[in-house]
Amino acid sequence: MVQPDELKRLIREVPDFPKPGILFYDITTLLKDARGFQQAVEALASQLDADAFDLLAGIEARGFIFAGALAYRFGKGLVPVRKPGKLPAATVREEYALEYGTDAVEIHQDAIQPGTRVVIVDDVLATGGTARAAARLIERAGGKVAGIVFLIELDFLRGRENLAGYPVHSILHYSA
Ligand code: AMP
Repeated sequence: MVQPDELKRLIREVPDFPKPGILFYDITTLLKDARGFQQAVEALASQLDADAFDLLAGIEARGFIFAGALAYRFGKGLVPVRKPGKLPAATVREEYALEYGTDAVEIHQDAIQPGTRVVIVDDVLATGGTARAAARLIERAGGKVAGIVFLIELDFLRGRENLAGYPVHSILHYSA
C-alpha cells in the first residue's frame, strides 16, 4: 500500500488559486500518475464496505473521477451531483451558503430510490458545505447517506463539523 506522503508528493499545491489567499490542491498531477491514481482509488476503497452501500454519488467535477473509478471497482452505480442547470431531466436542488452568496447542487429527481444507501465522493473536504448539501439532497430523495469519502481533508477548515452525524473518511490530511 502506498504511503500518504507518496500521494501527497503527487498533489500539486498552487498558491492564490482561484483567488488570493487560497492554496489550491491540484489533483491533476496525481491523476496522470498511473500508480498514484490507482493507489488513491484503492485507499478510498479501503474505507468502504461493499455490503454497506448500494450507490455512489460523485460531486462535480473532480468527485466524478474518483466516484467513477470506485463505482467500477465495486460494481455499483453512480449518480452525478451537479452544479445547477447541467442535468437534462427534472431535478431537485439544494442551496448552501458560501462566504459571499449562495451556491447549489442538483440531482435528477428519479436518481435515488427510497431506502438506497449512498456513499458520497469528492476530492477535497474544505468547509463541508458542498458535501452537506449533497447529503441533504440524497436524504430528500429518500436515500440514506452510508458514508462520505474524500481524498483530501483540510483539517483547519473544520469541514467535518459541518458533516456531524455522517460517517466521514478522508485519506490525506492537511493542516494550515
Ligand atoms: P467545501 O464545500 O468548502 O467543502 O468545498 C468543497 C469543494 O471545493 C470541493 O468540491 C473541492 O473540490 C473544492 N475545493 C475547496 N477548497 C479547495 C482547495 N483548497 N483546493 C482544491 N479544491 C478545493
